[in-house]
Amino acid sequence: MPGWIDTHCHLDAPEFAPDVDAVRQRAAAAGVLRCVIPAVRAADFAATAALAHRLGDAYALGIHPLYVPEATAADLDALDAALTAARDDPHLVAVGEIGLDFFVPELTREPLRTRQLQFYRAQLRLARRHGLPVILHVRRSADALLRELRALAGPGGWHGIAHAFNGSAQQAQAFIGLGFRLGFGGAMSFERALQLRRLAATLPLDALVLETDAPDMPPTWRYVPAARRAAGEPQARNEPAELPRIAAELAALRGLAPEVLAAATRANACAALPRLQALLPPKIEEYTHYPSANR
Ligand code: ZN
Repeated sequence: MPGWIDTHCHLDAPEFAPDVDAVRQRAAAAGVLRCVIPAVRAADFAATAALAHRLGDAYALGIHPLYVPEATAADLDALDAALTAARDDPHLVAVGEIGLDFFVPELTREPLRTRQLQFYRAQLRLARRHGLPVILHVRRSADALLRELRALAGPGGWHGIAHAFNGSAQQAQAFIGLGFRLGFGGAMSFERALQLRRLAATLPLDALVLETDAPDMPPTWRYVPAARRAAGEPQARNEPAELPRIAAELAALRGLAPEVLAAATRANACAALPRLQALLPPKIEEYTHYPSANR
C-alpha cells in the first residue's frame, strides 16, 4: 500500500471533535502516514499542538486570514512565543495557515483588507525569524501574496506550500520559482475544473503535494450539490481517509502508478516542510514495495 502524507488537514476543527481518533485511524488504514494540522487562531495553538503530538502528526501555527477580524496584536505576540517554545519540537513544521482571502466580500473591503495584509506580513517575518516554512491560504489573492513574498524573501528563499492552489499557470510558476510547492486536493476531482486539472497534469511533478483540507473541500464523490443543500442537507464532511482516492485522480491525470506518486509527493512534502522527514516511519520502503496484488 502506498504511504501518503496529507499536507493540509484540520483535524483540530470542531467538526472532528466527536470522533477524531476514528477519523485518524481510517486515514491510517487507507495508507495516510502523516497529516499536517495547521492551526487557524491563537486560542487553538496549544490544543492543535497537543493533538498533533497525540496522533503522531505534524502541526503548523498561524493566524488564518478568516480569523484576522477577531485577532489582535497580542495574538501575534502569542504566535512568536509559541514558535519560540516549540523551537525543538519535531512536530512543529511550519508557520500556517497564513495568507490572504480576497473571496469573502467583507475581507476585501477596508479596514479588513489592510488588516489581512498586516497580519500576513507580520507572520512572514516571524517565519523568517524562526527559520520555518510557511503554509499559505491563497484565495483570489495569489498576486498580492507573491508581492509580499518577493519583498520579504531572504537569501535562502522560501520553503512552504501554497495550499489548495487554484490559480493560473503563471501564478503557479511564480510560487514554484520562489521555492513553494503547490497543494492539490479534492478540487481537482471535479471534471469541470479544467484549468486545475490541466495544471495538475502538466506542472513539474516535484512541485506537487497532496492534501484533503478536511473537513472542507469534499471531493466530487462526497460533495453535496447546491440543490440538495437548499433542501436542507448539510455539506458533507471531508476526511483524510479520502487522500488515496484523491491521489488516484492525480495519478490518472499524470499516467503514474500510485506508488510512484506517493513516493514523489512524500519527498516533495519533506522538501517543503523539512522537519516532516524525521516524523516519517524509518522503513517507509516497506509501505511502498508491496506486490501489486496486495494493493
Ligand atoms: Zn486550511
